[in-house]
Amino acid sequence: MNQTKYIFVTGGVTSSLGKGIIAASLAKLLQARGYRTTIQKFDPYLNVDPGTLNPYEHGECYVTDDGAETDLDLGHYERFLNVPTSQANNVTTGRIYLSVIEKERRGEFLGKTVQVVPHITNEIKDRMQLLGQSGDYDIIITEIGGTVGDIESLPYIESVRQLVWDLGENNAIVIHLTLVPFLAAAGELKTKPTQHSVKTLMESGIKADILVCRTEHELSQEIRSKLALFCNVKKEAVIQSIDASTIYEVPNLMLEEGLDIVALKKLDLPKKAAPDLKNWNTFLKRLKSPKHTVNIGLIGKYVEMQDCYKSILEAFIHSGAANETKVNVVSIHSEYIDDENIADKLKDIDAILVAPGFGERGIEGKIAAVRYARESKMPFFGICLGMQMSVIEYSRNVLGLAEANSTEMNDQTAHPVVNLMEEQKNVTDKGGTMRLGAWKCEIKPDTLAYKIYGQTTIHERHRHRYEYNSAYVTQLEKAGLKASGVNPDTGLVEIVEIEEHPFFIGVQYHPEYKSTVANPHPLFVNFVAAAVKARKKQ
Ligand code: GLN
Repeated sequence: MNQTKYIFVTGGVTSSLGKGIIAASLAKLLQARGYRTTIQKFDPYLNVDPGTLNPYEHGECYVTDDGAETDLDLGHYERFLNVPTSQANNVTTGRIYLSVIEKERRGEFLGKTVQVVPHITNEIKDRMQLLGQSGDYDIIITEIGGTVGDIESLPYIESVRQLVWDLGENNAIVIHLTLVPFLAAAGELKTKPTQHSVKTLMESGIKADILVCRTEHELSQEIRSKLALFCNVKKEAVIQSIDASTIYEVPNLMLEEGLDIVALKKLDLPKKAAPDLKNWNTFLKRLKSPKHTVNIGLIGKYVEMQDCYKSILEAFIHSGAANETKVNVVSIHSEYIDDENIADKLKDIDAILVAPGFGERGIEGKIAAVRYARESKMPFFGICLGMQMSVIEYSRNVLGLAEANSTEMNDQTAHPVVNLMEEQKNVTDKGGTMRLGAWKCEIKPDTLAYKIYGQTTIHERHRHRYEYNSAYVTQLEKAGLKASGVNPDTGLVEIVEIEEHPFFIGVQYHPEYKSTVANPHPLFVNFVAAAVKARKKQ
């Protein structure tokens, strides 16, 4: 195929309708029909990337293999498609402006007045077509963040209008996602907000080709006809997106509604084979009929907002299904834990995961949780900061270095068992300067890590500035905290574990970013299995 085809997904009426899930579900169906598909997201905020955002703002920052700090929707894209994304898959207004202003400073505009139209819109259009130019994809789905009508989305909407025009109507289409609310008092679904939203889009010169309508109740034929009539779309292009019990059901729901078929027709592409969703549906079946249940404590400080630990929660869904186990993730706020109350807080918990994080808040609670898991032989899994806390806990309570700490929390500590990485010492900018992306790790034989991965060389994604201080590795190994995985180039310890424990493992990297429906991450799969085993013993 020569021409890459483009599908743009815009949102109307309200935010949080799940554009990312609709985009990922459509991509899944197109992929399952044999089309090479990817998804990209354009976000209308001025941060150059979400790396500097507090997780309470937009949820987790997702990290790609190539070290991009991105929107959490990219996590959904990877989890659905099982294809890695990259820096090019997430672009913000901040990044667009930064590159236009840098070009201006270099004199690349040859004395012209630099304006939103055409300079910003040209930059957006170039970036929208970047992945298409690689020749790696047949279809590119582009999700436009925000809601139509927002001031900050305007340059994106204008760029989509131009691109649809430039590429021609069979090469680029627009899907508009809206809400059809149910008014309980009237006992009716209401189409007016969708009509208005489509009108707003049309004021910007864009005609929606397909409407995807979020709804809590089935859309009747009458409602579909009304929406088609007033919104300028064919009736078959009015797609119902009814609330589902899990996001992983949405591809099947979209298949039933014919979203993929309508999109292919509009793009003048053949249907090819019926989508092969065999493995996907096996996963769903396992997810829905679990044989066991476990309670896993997630110890973190961002527990008030579920999106802050999105990839971890999704990895538990994948690994739960792989174990035919329902994983109840119980959020436990690390700020309110101490050695006194920990046994009580964990009384119904089978295993704990100590979460990643930044800064001092809640870290003593994390250390108390590690200690409890270590001493009571409860399965323990530490990720990034969680791993660093396990090094501190072991140093304090087994080696007897009472003052052991991370220099992130106390830069005067007598025992900096976790300290700033050498290459970070001269870094002053906060954005995009952590140790990011995929790095190699060599796993030692005869370790739990080796048993889990079944191989000696792995690549995992990172996002941190501090590390396990190699000056303490020998003493801690002698005392029983094994360094079972090491970066072969830098010698940085990436995995720690305790032999005399049923399951105690801490990793400096973020395995949750690589867990997908097709490939549940082995660390999560084995951790859930250990939790099931621990529960059976009760
Ligand atoms: N704050 C720690 C560091 O920068 C851990 C980071 C994390 O958990 N992602 O090293």
